Amino acid sequence: MTWDIKDIQKWSPEEHELGAVIPEAGNATLYKTGGWRSERPVRDEEKCTQCLFCYFYCPDTAVLVEDGKVVAFDYDHCKGCGVCATECPVDAITMHPETEFEGGC
Ligand code: SF4
Ligand code: SF4
Repeated sequence: MTWDIKDIQKWSPEEHELGAVIPEAGNATLYKTGGWRSERPVRDEEKCTQCLFCYFYCPDTAVLVEDGKVVAFDYDHCKGCGVCATECPVDAITMHPETEFEGGC
């Protein structure tokens, strides 16, 4: 289907195909954005001070916290942006190519 901006005034949902469907709210967890990742974050337990900066800065809620402490990354949803590694004040997080890990991503 082609779209001409001159038709904007007569636009209606019935005339145009839907671009996407959100069948229910809160379904973002179903989209495993980890498939985009070329590098993964790895946390050094010894260096980590449990400040939780990585948890607050992660745009994908992919830093997993239990009892107020970082315990792991959710690699199903971590897309490897590296924000956590950039923001960690003690450089406890480093980014590594997926090819370093068995099975990759
Ligand atoms: S690399 Fe990006 S998406 Fe993955 S845990 Fe760090 S901040 Fe979150
Ligand atoms: S930002 Fe760094 S020091 Fe703070 S909790 Fe995360 S890994 Fe640990």
